[in-house]
Amino acid sequence: MERKVAWNERSQEDLAAMEQLAEEYRWFISENKTERECTQAAIALAEAAGYKPLSRAIAEELPLQPGDKVWAQAKGKALILVHVGRAPMAQGLNILGAHIDSPRLDIKQNPLYEAQGLALLDTHYYGGIKNYQWVALPLALHGVVAKTDGTVVDVVIGEDAADPVFCVTDLLPHLGRAQLAKTGDKVVEGEDLDLLVGSFPAQAQAAEGEGEGAEGDKPEAPKDPVKARFLQLLEEKYGIGEEDFLSAELEVVPAGPARELGLDRSMIIGYGQDDRVCAFTSLKAQLALAASPVVPDTTAVCVLVDKEEIGSVGATGMTSRFFENTMAEIMELAGESGMLLLRRGLEASRMLSSDVSAGFDPAYASVFEAKNSAYLGRGLVFNKYTGARGKSGSNDASAEYVARVRRVMDDAGVFFQTAELGKVDAGGGGTIAYIPAEYGMDVIDSGVAVLSMHAPWEVTSKIDVYEAYRGYEAFLRHM
Ligand code: MN
Ligand code: MN
Repeated sequence: MERKVAWNERSQEDLAAMEQLAEEYRWFISENKTERECTQAAIALAEAAGYKPLSRAIAEELPLQPGDKVWAQAKGKALILVHVGRAPMAQGLNILGAHIDSPRLDIKQNPLYEAQGLALLDTHYYGGIKNYQWVALPLALHGVVAKTDGTVVDVVIGEDAADPVFCVTDLLPHLGRAQLAKTGDKVVEGEDLDLLVGSFPAQAQAAEGEGEGAEGDKPEAPKDPVKARFLQLLEEKYGIGEEDFLSAELEVVPAGPARELGLDRSMIIGYGQDDRVCAFTSLKAQLALAASPVVPDTTAVCVLVDKEEIGSVGATGMTSRFFENTMAEIMELAGESGMLLLRRGLEASRMLSSDVSAGFDPAYASVFEAKNSAYLGRGLVFNKYTGARGKSGSNDASAEYVARVRRVMDDAGVFFQTAELGKVDAGGGGTIAYIPAEYGMDVIDSGVAVLSMHAPWEVTSKIDVYEAYRGYEAFLRHM
């Protein structure tokens, strides 16, 4: 039972639409490398498509009607879009979910030090990375610095071609004998992922207005002069002092844009495709409904959350009440008040919890089971279950629900495949799927196959991005 290669099936027209989507997608992941940036960009796209802030609807007690479109965000790091359908929400919603956080290095709260004439920022990695992949490549700094006066400074350094970049150094092979004898997880220790940010010492400065030859007050070089110069530059360019690192969220990510990959330009290599490839396509599908004059039968919801890579925790992760509270507010404004209707609506809902799948990699064939693997080029991936060690931690979608999803995909002509994450007991992983499933709704894992998942540069196939988008739109319209 082999699934079709979507490349062979799509018309020239479809392939042109695919290229256009791939272009937009490359722009999106190149411009938006943090959960905050993704949230902001998604809000801008939603507003352009006619979405209004839920906060305003609440403040002005505006009733919501079928066809109305609202967005809500959590601390600038998670976003929900709702397009109100004709049927009561208590009868269920069609929900697309994905995450917008990605593995990276976060700058510590007290990060800056100087050693042997070099200035470095100490980091603490976020999510499941292979430490050794993050050395000796150009890195950019993205994030915010919140100051005690209430202002928040946005920082993006290393993306413009004229910007400087940063890096974590690696050991030369000539002196690497002991290092290379270590196991992979110890080759580069997490604590040693320190970002090189400067080497030019601040100069000793004479006090102003003083002439030559004044005895006994020779200008003194600052202690840690390279660190001092780095701090001077931060102050000049951003108005940030060293103590402001205490209340900053600065993320170190690979510098530079996503690129087309392969002589045939069939693939995309870029940072953070886990899970922005699903977040972007889910968002596009949600917004496609807004472009049509037809009001959807079922209310369409797109949930983009943070913190999946560290367990969906916190106020902006899927386990927070953000989703439930937002739906409660919306149902209230739509005239469907009360906890009972909310609970009924959530239980009756259907969801595609979208996250990337491990694409079959011939270089590492031994960890895959070929019949039940995701392949680049074979379309949207469905995982009935994920988990590890006997499906633990998995949301196991019911057979009946899988059948319904199959039918919707078949009817819409969406190319899809089914997969597990590698061989039994080769490892495993989880997603956000089990969390909304707690309401009793039907949830299935779906997504796009990725090579080099969690590496600084991940690889996807353009046709899979397109099939994902087509599949998500079909799900919102026809489930
Ligand atoms: Mn993911
Ligand atoms: Mn991941």
